[in-house]
Amino acid sequence: MTFEELAKPEVRSQPVYEPGKPIEDVARELGLDPASIIKLASNENPFGASPRALAAARAALNHAELYPDPGCFALRVKLATKWKLTPEQFVIGNGSNEILELLGHAFLRPGDEVVMGNPAFVVYKLVTRLFGATAIEVPLVNHTHDLGSLAAAVTAKTRMVFVPSPNNPSGTTNTEAELLAFARRLPDHVILVFDEAYAEYLEAAPDLRPLIAEGRKVVCLRTFSKIYGLAAMRVGYGYASADLVALLNRVRQPFNVNAIAQAAATAALDDTEFTESCRRKNQAGLQQLAEGFSALGLEFVPSHGNFILVNVGDGADVFGKLQGRGVIVRPMRAYGMPAWLRVTVGTEAQNGRLLAELRSALACESAD
Ligand SMILES: *Cc1c(COP(=O)(O)O)cnc(C)c1O
Repeated sequence: MTFEELAKPEVRSQPVYEPGKPIEDVARELGLDPASIIKLASNENPFGASPRALAAARAALNHAELYPDPGCFALRVKLATKWKLTPEQFVIGNGSNEILELLGHAFLRPGDEVVMGNPAFVVYKLVTRLFGATAIEVPLVNHTHDLGSLAAAVTAKTRMVFVPSPNNPSGTTNTEAELLAFARRLPDHVILVFDEAYAEYLEAAPDLRPLIAEGRKVVCLRTFSKIYGLAAMRVGYGYASADLVALLNRVRQPFNVNAIAQAAATAALDDTEFTESCRRKNQAGLQQLAEGFSALGLEFVPSHGNFILVNVGDGADVFGKLQGRGVIVRPMRAYGMPAWLRVTVGTEAQNGRLLAELRSALACESAD
């Protein structure tokens, strides 16, 4: 018997998630100087992290010999104040991806259905399959989640619905009024998982807390990986009713979030000046890329996130050419959009470089 044969069917059928390539890998493979490479592939914050968060992380290193607080108390208290909820309504994860997995552990059985848009964040599908549940994918309309069709896809077997806003990879949003109405129509056996990974990039993010107050089955997910610039730390959180949080706490590992990450995240919440400046610079960057794509005659999807989809004709080819020129972006074939690239909004200089390399890559494409 091989290990492959011994593995559970859910594992064997699991496709491998392809993350954005690290700069070091590309440098090694192409013989490029790592310092000459820019990565606009994983929606990381090009402005780094808050200096306050980094100072707190460094201070926490002085007690690397101690296990972290298993309950992330300080972080939950600070979040409770920020959101006017109670600390018992927060679960902290090793990235918000871990909370997606905790939801699977707690709620998904073989035969269950999970409704999600397509294309949306691939981890929804991976988690669904990992627990033997079936992903019911509902096509986006105008690159946007069509909440009416999502509601129509719900059956007696549906256990969860994933809705991200802004969506990854399209950067499109749904309004607060639409989302509230959608959630209030869902049957009582369905949990709405509202993924707010990019909410801080919006001027006014939808507020689904009224649904929690009404006792509806909803959990909202946020992350420190994007606007807070702490992707390396792996920390995110969910807020929901205390009952749901208690279940997720039963299935998570006791020390799932390390002490350095807890300290950094707690301090990051205080630095609204940093996040506000990132939000403004991101808006300018979106504008810069939109104008640049228009100048190149390229179709793009107007985005509310820190990334943007652009139609380059042959996504795999242009991805390869850009990478050869030291610009890492994300090809969208795995999302069923082979003509498209997803580009993270960088600094003004990085956006300029991307546009210049894209111009040359497209010019040499039409030449051959
Ligand atoms: C980046 C991202 C996340 C956050 O992932 P972490 O595990 O917190 O780093 C969650 N949802 C979506 C849609 C994302 O793009």
